[in-house]
Order: sequence, then C-alpha cells, then structure tokens
Amino acid sequence: MRQINWDLDGVIVPSESYKAAQWALAKLRQSGVLSEVDYNMLVAGDGTTARRLYDWVCTEQAPLHQFVRGLAGLSRGETLRRLWSAFPEGGNAEDLDHLRDASKESVMGIMTEPIAGTVRFARAAAGRLRQAIVTQTDDASVCSLIRRGVVPGGVFDAVVCCGGNPRLAAISGSSAKKVAAHIAACEQFGVPPSAAIAIDDSVDGLRAAREAGLVCVGLRQAGNPHDLAAYADVVVSDLGPLARPDVIDALANAGPAEVAACLKGVAK
Ligand SMILES: [Mg+2]
Repeated sequence: MRQINWDLDGVIVPSESYKAAQWALAKLRQSGVLSEVDYNMLVAGDGTTARRLYDWVCTEQAPLHQFVRGLAGLSRGETLRRLWSAFPEGGNAEDLDHLRDASKESVMGIMTEPIAGTVRFARAAAGRLRQAIVTQTDDASVCSLIRRGVVPGGVFDAVVCCGGNPRLAAISGSSAKKVAAHIAACEQFGVPPSAAIAIDDSVDGLRAAREAGLVCVGLRQAGNPHDLAAYADVVVSDLGPLARPDVIDALANAGPAEVAACLKGVAK
C-alpha cells in the first residue's frame, strides 16, 4: 500500500463530541433552558464561557452527559429527532442551525488534543506512506486546527476539503463529494485508489471510500451505535498499537487483499 486517506472528525480529532455539544447547547438555548446571556457569551467567543458550558453539557459529572454523548457521530436527521424528543419546546430546525453556526468557533476553540492513538500511528507511518486528510470539514476550520497544533504538523502530506476545492464544491451530494475527494487525494500523489487505505469512523464515510475503490479501515468510537463491520475491510478501536515498525513495514508491502490480515491480531 502507498497511501492513507484520513477522515478528520472522529478519527484525527475528537470533534464528534464537540459537535454534539454545539447541537445540545443550541437546542438548550432554543428551548429556553440556557439563558440568552449565557448563549450570547458563548457566541462572543469567550473561551471560559465556552469551556464552562461545554463541561455543563458533556463531562462525565454533568446531568446531560449521557444524552450529549449519545449524539456524537449521529446523522443530522437522527440528531434532530433526538433533540426534539428530549426538548420539544422552541423554534424550528432552521433557527437551530443559526444558533449552532454562531457557537461553532467558540466550542471548537476549546478542543486542544487530537486522538492519541491516531497521532501515534500517523507519526510512525509518516515518510513510509503518503498521508492525506480527506474531510467534509471546511478549509478554515482545518487550517485553524493545524495552526493551533491540534492536528499535528509535519505528519500529513495533503489536505483535501470537500468544500474547499471548486471542482469538488460543484458536485452535488455529500457522499459523491467525498468519493471524488478520495480520488483527488490519490491523484495528487499518482497513487491508484486500490493502493490506498481509508480510515473513517462513520458508515457514510466508509461507503464513500469503498465506492472510490480504497481499502477501508473502520475506527470504532465509544458511543457510536453503528456497526462498521459491514462497511470496512477491518474494524479497530485504537490505532495506537499499529504504530510498530513491523506493522508499518507489513502495510507498506501489503496488497489490497492483505491489509486486513496485517491489522487483525495487532489492533483490537
Ligand atoms: Mg468522521
């Protein structure tokens, strides 16, 4: 194999839980549980307020912890269904989008750490395999994560944002965009998709990678209710154990059909 295409959200950074917090905070404001003053302070980008509210909705001691944790990694439709069933009061989904958009920067701004196992494996693979981040997250957010060091520098060779490239932005449908983004990331290094591995934590992401012709590794996240096994060649719950030099060697020398065998038995 010659390349790894990395999903960003939920694979390199634990952003699914921060996104779940954005949804929950916006719905709590919309239904009146959260005061306008608190929400406006959050939107104004006060880091202390963002951290206090984030802790209030999703740390382990918080009463809302289980509910918010259950939103991580869900589709938009399922997220909305759960929010409205728990907090029926308030306006419509469009209003909620506006509230959530306004708080995005401040909530994402308190995320400081990437996912440890991912970074260990990606650092070990750097220089042996090309590594591209392939993501639906917008350019500005990815740049901010790189600038703040949440996404480590000197490890990834390319970033392909589905919305950041005019050719990809013109494609309709998020799934078709991600298929094209995988192919574009492979073309960038002259690597055929069949010689590339995609690592993703979502059913939709793995489907797109498989359609693009890549070998698929599912990263299982605690709290994600979906079974990834039907959509991936192999599923692991921590990439850290794959950082061994002998595993990187085996992957670099493996053909598409041998990737799963290289990883099984090393990763859980
Ligand atoms: Mg993801």
